[in-house]
Amino acid sequence: MNIVKIPALKDNYIWILYNKGKGLVIDPGDASPVFYILDKLHLTLIGILLTHYHTDHVGGIDRLKKAFPDIPVYGSYETRHTGATRIVQDGNIIRIMDHSFKVMHLPGHTLGHIGFFCDKEKWLFCGDTLFTAGCGKILEGTPQTMYNSIIKINSLPLDTLICSSHEYTLQNLKFARTLLPEDNILLSFEKKVKKILNHSKILPTTKLFLERKINVFLRCNDIEIYKKIGINYTNIIQPIHIFTHLRKMKDTFVMFLFTYSIFIF
Ligand SMILES: [Zn+2]
Repeated sequence: MNIVKIPALKDNYIWILYNKGKGLVIDPGDASPVFYILDKLHLTLIGILLTHYHTDHVGGIDRLKKAFPDIPVYGSYETRHTGATRIVQDGNIIRIMDHSFKVMHLPGHTLGHIGFFCDKEKWLFCGDTLFTAGCGKILEGTPQTMYNSIIKINSLPLDTLICSSHEYTLQNLKFARTLLPEDNILLSFEKKVKKILNHSKILPTTKLFLERKINVFLRCNDIEIYKKIGINYTNIIQPIHIFTHLRKMKDTFVMFLFTYSIFIF
């Protein structure tokens, strides 16, 4: 099966999987770029997968359903009013285009957030749960809820491709580098990303084994991170405390970047 990610809206990615003239789309926040790719690759859309109910993930469904009225739209219960026609839950298997997609409940960003893991290809569509070098905002769950979802993802095979729904890589790396300025893997990955950004706004999709190195939210056991965030690690501290602390720092960091950019421009 082939896979393509399309930049959409402000910083979203829409994923299209295709084979033998048929296509499956994940999180179509906007229909126009999906129609463009379907047309370009001569594809008939045969299904839609939804990770959660936010508009930037479901906004294109109505137009796509008008063009392809009978296609199934798979989503969790929270997406029932946004166009989902097949409600799925943790552990369900969706069989489509000769592939199986296991539904994983990944709450935290929203309570009904799900991901889809394709075992054959080792692809995980994780919406707004994990991003390249970062993790999603906790909008409905608690830090523990989100951390459990991150641990679930971290237990997948190391060569799993992490297919997320937003492009936040540079901002995530900036945050990670303030914590770990001397981390060589982070530094070289940031250099690579900046080089690519000179000619493309689509950045590489990473696999879990690299995320374990560049994603601080997957490194909550790391002694370097314990030290850098100013916690006395001789106390009994669990990884969840580190995760909670990191997520709060990241929220403030984004606000700082935003304020700074307004001031400059
Ligand atoms: Zn969202």
